[in-house]
Amino acid sequence: MDNIIFLAHTEADGTLNKTALEALSSAVELKQSLNGTLTVGIYGSQIQPAADSIAACGATRFLAVCGEPFAQSRFATDAAACEALVRASGATIVLTAATSRSSRIMAAVAHRVGGCVDTHVNDVAVSANTLTVTRWFYRQRIQGSLTRNQRPWILLLDPSSRPAWKGEPGSITVELIDVPLSDSLRRTTVQGVVTPPADQQTIRPDADLLFVAGAGWTKKQKDGQTHVPEAEVIIVEFLRNSKASLGGSKSLVDLSGENQSTLRFMTHLNQVGQTGSSPRHPKGLAACCHGEEPHTVGWRFIGERRAINLDPNCGWARGKADVLYVADAFEVMSKVNAFLSGK
Ligand SMILES: Cc1cc2nc3c(=O)[nH]c(=O)nc-3n(C[C@H](O)[C@H](O)[C@H](O)COP(=O)(O)OP(=O)(O)OC[C@H]3O[C@@H](n4cnc5c(N)ncnc54)[C@H](O)[C@@H]3O)c2cc1C
Repeated sequence: MDNIIFLAHTEADGTLNKTALEALSSAVELKQSLNGTLTVGIYGSQIQPAADSIAACGATRFLAVCGEPFAQSRFATDAAACEALVRASGATIVLTAATSRSSRIMAAVAHRVGGCVDTHVNDVAVSANTLTVTRWFYRQRIQGSLTRNQRPWILLLDPSSRPAWKGEPGSITVELIDVPLSDSLRRTTVQGVVTPPADQQTIRPDADLLFVAGAGWTKKQKDGQTHVPEAEVIIVEFLRNSKASLGGSKSLVDLSGENQSTLRFMTHLNQVGQTGSSPRHPKGLAACCHGEEPHTVGWRFIGERRAINLDPNCGWARGKADVLYVADAFEVMSKVNAFLSGK
């Protein structure tokens, strides 16, 4: 019989984040379809709020590694905590969310417990009592299914692959696992986290809308001039009003790398596509961007795609967008901004 452990780090306030709850959904389903047992394993400076919040998930054991040294994302302590939790649970299958924190350590944990690991998992299913894992290859172009005999099998579930688990909170007695803190575990000191102020944070994975700007915003317009400062104002105002996440085409983010006149808030982190990211949002709007294949690969998981382009024959028109507005993006987005701000 398979024993599944759902592994998660807690946030600073002791709660679980949304991606962790998505992985828990998978763990709960897997427990049912494999007719196995479920253990919860959590680590962080505070663990009780997390354990209580998922009291009704059907786990038979709640294990935790708790203490200030496990508060921050540090490879040595995180890997030691997860190794101890996996060993204590005797798990054959480990399910965890692919946060940056867990992604950094899980290959090492798999090695230490003599198991194997698969990253970027987007689904787990059981047929004929065999666990099959689904993931994408070649930048989201090919979907593959795989099984493995080696155990424990550690699976990192990509964000937004499943709905977040929901259930009534309760009161849980947690079994605390002791992880001896040798000097080598504490050799690295985490001094803090540097993040942009909230209003400058343009990548918002939970936003309903992804707004993608292309190089057209920096090109000469009908008056023969470029209008990059105006483009900046329009895009920033739209992001502020709509709370959309900002993406960019490769051409546009490369311009900023080459110090050409371009949108100052656009970095390579914003790039979507074959060599960029594949975000998951219910809706997407591309403006001043051509819809070429390597770019639209990044739109794989966007629910509804719309684009604004002056050219009726642009790549979006060839079946890659659900709706194409053949129009001037400066004019359209200015009107949208006026509408959103109630002017
Ligand atoms: C191996 C490889 C990997 C790649 N990976 C990626 C990737 O990961 N992501 C990515 O984005 N690209 C990638 N590319 C590049 C990709 O093929 C395209 O070249 C790029 O995405 C095009 O960018 P763009 O649409 O911003 O610019 P352009 O092709 O220059 O298009 C600008 C568009 O703006 C329109 N426009 C101009 N002014 C206006 C206006 N006022 N209103 C409305 N529309 C206007 C024009 O009609 C034009 O269609 C890759 C290419 C290769 C070869």
